[in-house]
Amino acid sequence: METAAKTIKLYDDRPYDLSFTGEIIYAGPMEEGTRRLILDRTLFFPEEGGQSPDRGMLADCRVTDVQIRDGIITHTVRGSRERLEVLEPGCQVRGELDWDFRFSNMQNHTGEHILSGLLHSTYGFDNIGFRLSPNTVTLDFNGHLDRDGLLEIERRANEAVYANLEVYARYPERDRLEAMEYRSKKQIDEAVRVVTIPGVDACACCAPHVRRTGEIGVIRILKSLRYKGGTRLTILSGRRALALMQQQLIVLEDVSHLTSRKQEELAEGVRSLLEENADQRFRIGELERQITDLRLSAIPAEQKNVFLAEADMSPLAQRGYVNGLCERHEGCCGVFVGNDSEGYRFIIGARQSDAKHQNALHSDARQAAALLREKLGARGGGKPAMVQGSVKAAWQEIQKVLEGLS
Ligand SMILES: [Zn+2]
Repeated sequence: METAAKTIKLYDDRPYDLSFTGEIIYAGPMEEGTRRLILDRTLFFPEEGGQSPDRGMLADCRVTDVQIRDGIITHTVRGSRERLEVLEPGCQVRGELDWDFRFSNMQNHTGEHILSGLLHSTYGFDNIGFRLSPNTVTLDFNGHLDRDGLLEIERRANEAVYANLEVYARYPERDRLEAMEYRSKKQIDEAVRVVTIPGVDACACCAPHVRRTGEIGVIRILKSLRYKGGTRLTILSGRRALALMQQQLIVLEDVSHLTSRKQEELAEGVRSLLEENADQRFRIGELERQITDLRLSAIPAEQKNVFLAEADMSPLAQRGYVNGLCERHEGCCGVFVGNDSEGYRFIIGARQSDAKHQNALHSDARQAAALLREKLGARGGGKPAMVQGSVKAAWQEIQKVLEGLS
């Protein structure tokens, strides 16, 4: 690339401008409907410091990516062939920001400064990572805070929003800079841009911020996770925080309506529903066991190869039922759960050698599964003591096939 001059960053001191005109100084080759453009100046903030790049239109083409390297900013634009073809060095082109997207980034970025500044001044924690993408905003710091600590930091961050403090960016002279206290993640050789929120934060940063903290609207900490020996907070500010809170409120209202509980009593309400549910499951299990015992006792003990069909039964009860049958009867015994139109899932067992039945003739449940596979296209398999599977056939057909067992 022939361009050595660094791109003039218009977003640096004009973060509220929506459009600009610049001159193309380099246009890359056409690549699948896209072209890379370098201008003498730009309002588009590139992907930098964990923040995703600005969006918008440039020369009537959609800006799909903006990258910076050695101070040179490259835009990738997508457009029609006719449109892309005429973009050549020397052309004056107009750029227009997707302002909603940019402003949301400014709100979220400035919100992060406030939280990081407070974490630093209150606890001495350093911000060690930041990510601002359309889907998530995360802040990593090298410490831990419990829930109360996080609520307190969040409360104080929002106090800084209500105070509507000025946010300003300066490039201090070297000697002033050396005397200043500011947060910085890395050693910076070129002129350092320090973004200050009086009484809250001073931090080396190159991104666009809101003019006053009141524009952030609200700062929320959504989640806190242990991460690489420190903490990762998921945070959200401004419009995006409001949109999320609106969604959350709808969910709360729905759950509150479904459980007939007030919102503030939901956790308790759901806990008691879960306990009730566990009790009922236990009771159902007990009743199923009683029913199978009754049914088992009605079958003459000398009967061999006993197979039964049930319309509905939990897999656990079905297994218990099969065990009960095998305990009392010789040969293969099984339980089929389902109906003729949708088919059956089956468990078939066969009593194996044990102290009580040492002299019995041992059967192999796999023989029953093989018969069902061969004659009715059943699926499934297992071990000599137990097989399971499914079969799509009528109960009468199944019974007939199983009569073939020795
Ligand atoms: Zn910043």
